[in-house]
Amino acid sequence: MATLADADLTFASRPHPAPTSVEARAAVLANPGFGTRFTDHMVTIEWTEPRGWHDAVIGPRLPIALDPAAAVLHYAQEIFEGLKAYVQTDGSIALFRPEANAARFNQSARRLAMPELPEALFIEAVTRLVQTDRAWIPSGEGSSLYLRPFMIATEAFLGVRPAKQYKFIVIASPAGNYFKSGAPAVSIWVSDYTRAAPGGTGAAKCGGNYAASLVPQAEAIARGHDQVVFLDAAEHKWIEELGGMNLYFAFEDGTLLTPALTGTILPGITRDSLLTLAREEGLKVVEGRYSLEQWREDAASGKLVETFACGTAAVVTPVGKVAGRDGEFTIGGGGPGQLTQKLKNRLVAIQRGDTPDTHGWISKIG
Ligand SMILES: *Cc1c(COP(=O)(O)O)cnc(C)c1O
Repeated sequence: MATLADADLTFASRPHPAPTSVEARAAVLANPGFGTRFTDHMVTIEWTEPRGWHDAVIGPRLPIALDPAAAVLHYAQEIFEGLKAYVQTDGSIALFRPEANAARFNQSARRLAMPELPEALFIEAVTRLVQTDRAWIPSGEGSSLYLRPFMIATEAFLGVRPAKQYKFIVIASPAGNYFKSGAPAVSIWVSDYTRAAPGGTGAAKCGGNYAASLVPQAEAIARGHDQVVFLDAAEHKWIEELGGMNLYFAFEDGTLLTPALTGTILPGITRDSLLTLAREEGLKVVEGRYSLEQWREDAASGKLVETFACGTAAVVTPVGKVAGRDGEFTIGGGGPGQLTQKLKNRLVAIQRGDTPDTHGWISKIG
């Protein structure tokens, strides 16, 4: 790959001295679960002022040493990404829209006052890790290698200002089918908490947003639901998104609506891909506003036929039931809807290489 990154910076390669045995790896890949098992290697790249990015290494995955005063531990200067590498049906290895993750990573970096990483370097780091640990990519249906690039402020300094030292890391985790036997419809709880306010960090993929969503999510679970849905902060009326997934609403008349990116919603790459696929399906796709009140009314009248959530981890997840302080309602038959399944199948077919990639979304890396 001829990249800007190659010109500026070469990756040192330090193979793991004692990698996981073939048998132990096979046992992990037979039942990978999600987010608990990791591959043998990781990428690290350092940033300091005034040197910029340097010391790119692909080496053994190990704990990292941090000064107890490291800024990330106190003021949460941290951002991350999530993307997947797939074994395609023809046996090749592909990433799905990694340039979009690289671009979003830099949007998040700007919001958190962190240095931007050249997009080519982001992609090279991810690619090298997948190529090094390619034996860790599970190949079963719905499985993939989940990649987690992230950046933390490592400078030891307790004053409040952007740090002058950062570390970019990529780790990888084999991931099974998020939902074992197809996606069951989930039940969601409308939270009284808000996830993101106008002018805040809702559109940035930062750990802090997730920290703030844990109590609302725990409340949803305690009430017997699977996920939490957040309304807007100003009026507590408009539907925004789940803790980590965007939402879509499908209507009887062929309209498909998703909340517009107002600055308080995370611009999901799955969301964006589905906008394109839904238009190709001939649906009237709208990015707009939708209120909780209208949602309830339309579900009751039958005008709203399906609702689904989407994101890299679980791809597309049907929403069957919604509950909040004012009672609960069911969407359609309460189970997975036809359009939800159709859009999911189309997206997965592209990711798997079962259908031609007419959008340039697939990056073959091996
Ligand atoms: C990552 C994320 C999403 C989904 O984005 P994808 O790019 O589709 O994975 C949605 N909402 C939040 C809050 C997120 O962090």
